[in-house]
Amino acid sequence: PVALYGPSRRNSCGLSFADEPGLLQLAEELRGSLPLARAEPLLAQNSAESAWQAVRNPADTRQLLGHWRATAPEDLPAALQAAREAQPAWNARGVRARAALLEQAADALASARAEFLVLLVREAGKTLPDALAEWREAVDLLRYYASQAHTLMAAPQTLPGPTGEHNELQLHGRGVFVCISPWNFPLAIFSGQIAAALVTGNCVLAKSAEQTSLIAARMVQLLHACGLPRAVLQLLPGDGALGAALCALPQLAGVAFTGSLPVARSIARSLAGGEQALPVLIAETGGQNAMIVDSSALPEQVVKDALQSAFYSAGQRCSCLRILYLQEEIYERTVQMLIGAMQELGIGDPALLASDLGPLIDAPAQAALNAYAAQLRAERRVLAELSLPPETGAGYFFAPLLAQVRDIAQIGEERFGPILHVCSYRAKELDAVIDSLNASGYGLTLGVHSRIESTWRRVQQRARVGNCYVNRGMTGAVVGTQPFGGEGLSGTGPKAGGPHYLLRFVSERTLTVNT
Ligand code: GLU
Repeated sequence: PVALYGPSRRNSCGLSFADEPGLLQLAEELRGSLPLARAEPLLAQNSAESAWQAVRNPADTRQLLGHWRATAPEDLPAALQAAREAQPAWNARGVRARAALLEQAADALASARAEFLVLLVREAGKTLPDALAEWREAVDLLRYYASQAHTLMAAPQTLPGPTGEHNELQLHGRGVFVCISPWNFPLAIFSGQIAAALVTGNCVLAKSAEQTSLIAARMVQLLHACGLPRAVLQLLPGDGALGAALCALPQLAGVAFTGSLPVARSIARSLAGGEQALPVLIAETGGQNAMIVDSSALPEQVVKDALQSAFYSAGQRCSCLRILYLQEEIYERTVQMLIGAMQELGIGDPALLASDLGPLIDAPAQAALNAYAAQLRAERRVLAELSLPPETGAGYFFAPLLAQVRDIAQIGEERFGPILHVCSYRAKELDAVIDSLNASGYGLTLGVHSRIESTWRRVQQRARVGNCYVNRGMTGAVVGTQPFGGEGLSGTGPKAGGPHYLLRFVSERTLTVNT
């Protein structure tokens, strides 16, 4: 059976602090100073020469959290060699032992709640509810993949065949996987990729995002403390160039990547250009996610779900709502309600329970959104924007903004922050709206608000998206319940937290015995 974290599991839209004893006290502690942390590559020689780089709190850059050291590219061949040597024994250990190790890690992670929440709030700028949801998701992913691996791999599948022959289908680890994870889920996506690769019998070279190396280092330390051999999982912190160098290594079994579309494309090119193998690519990229609201929808619910989906997590989830389509009859009223509700959003230190939004991750993210906001203002498309409280001045904050657009094509690239675009459509244009969403090429999440079942069924049938949410928010997919991932430009599949995810990490071998 799948042992998910606790009976009170809810997604991030429904989180309640009452579920979490001690959280208020933790919020209090977060105001105090923290011990400095460190992240550095494991088993790496040349990297010892790399300079230590400061890690600062994105909500207040005066606060130093620790230091990290990038992996020297010259260390990669030795890391790969160590992983390749360790892999046969790891694979031979069997799925029971590997799944048990993940279960043990899940218990350890569950016990280390306070420490990980502090890191998520301080290093990644997550609000406490977001940090809590992410920590729960990471625990769930470890347990879910342990359970799935057991189901898939504990015994080979015996296949029917001619009398006198025994046929079986076995699943094995493929070899060495490179896992490249993003800063926006530095614990859950980082751990999910690694757990899937490890439990199926692969060794892992893990490149954490440069913005969130401390969280990654602590998680890897936790897994090693549970008995995972150091060569089986090696942390290689670094920037995008290091990721590219990792993907150019010969003899990789595959790459699991979550991040931007241009990077996914360049990884695909790099893997296709290699001489020695045909590695698997599992890529989860971005989205240009819409919510379609017809005139039968409940206005208060629409406003709540649209605001949460667009602005919470500072809009820094790939599942976030970017464009809201309102049927023309309800457009004016809903926009007025949205503008009113926006004024209630709390922006500030994510450690404070009053903050609905924390900072953006870093200065480049802030500069990109500021430039886009200036463009929206110049084109007179801004319907409402909040102002930042003065105490946010030392962080990478960006105030939520509501802008009018003609259609999805006018937005251009994915805007990774708390900017919501809104436009109106006529009822008879519904199919054309869905076709324009499909034409964007992205297909990650879609929200529909309608009390008419034939409408939301029609929308879901026509839309090429991975996750469609009806009459609710569109973020916070729950492990094992809402397998997450898109199609088209949004990703290759399989879906994270779903029953088919592990299959991409294994090779299938058939054994036929003439008995
Ligand atoms: N799984 C997350 C959600 O459902 C989003 C993951 C991401 O942003 O990459 O909100």
